Amino acid sequence: MTTIGHTLTGLTLGVLALPRGLSRWGRLAYFASFIVLANVPDIRLPYWGHQRYAISHSVFTNLALMGLAVVLVRIFGRQKLWSKWPVIIAGCGAWLSHLLLDSFYNHGRGIAMFWPFSSARLVLPLPWFSNLHDIPPLFTPEHWRIFGTEFAFYGIFLLAAIIIRYAARNQ
Ligand SMILES: [Zn+2]
Repeated sequence: MTTIGHTLTGLTLGVLALPRGLSRWGRLAYFASFIVLANVPDIRLPYWGHQRYAISHSVFTNLALMGLAVVLVRIFGRQKLWSKWPVIIAGCGAWLSHLLLDSFYNHGRGIAMFWPFSSARLVLPLPWFSNLHDIPPLFTPEHWRIFGTEFAFYGIFLLAAIIIRYAARNQ
C-alpha cells in the first residue's frame, strides 16, 4: 500500500473517534497524529521502515511500541481530550491497519508480520491494488493509476465516516 491508502485509513478512523471540543489547531494536530500513526511502519528511520521490513512490519514489534505509546499518552495526556480511550483505540486501529493494508497488494506475497516467531505471511490480495516501483519519478501513468485507485477506494470510507459523524452531530 502507498502512503495514500494508509493516510486515508488513518483519517477515517480519526474522523470516527474525533472528540468534541478540540480547537482548530487541536483538530489539525489530531488528524496529523492519525496520519503519522497509520504510516508508522513505513517511517524512514535507522533500523526501521522498508530498510528493516521484518522488524518494522512485525505485529509484535508494533504492539510493543503501541503499548509504550499508550502508556505515555495516558501519563502525559491526563485530562486531555485526545487521551480518552475511544481516541486511543482508534489510534491503535490506525497503526495496526497498516499491516492489514500491506497484505492487500496483488503480487500475492503478502506480509510476513509475525517476525521473529514465524515466517508465515498474511496474504489477502485485492486485484486492483498494485505495488509501487521505482520512486522517483512519481509522474508515470502507472504511478497515477496506483495512487488514483487507492484514493478512490479508501476515499469512499473517509467520505462515509464524515457523513456518519455529520449525521450523528445533527441528531
Ligand atoms: Zn508498509
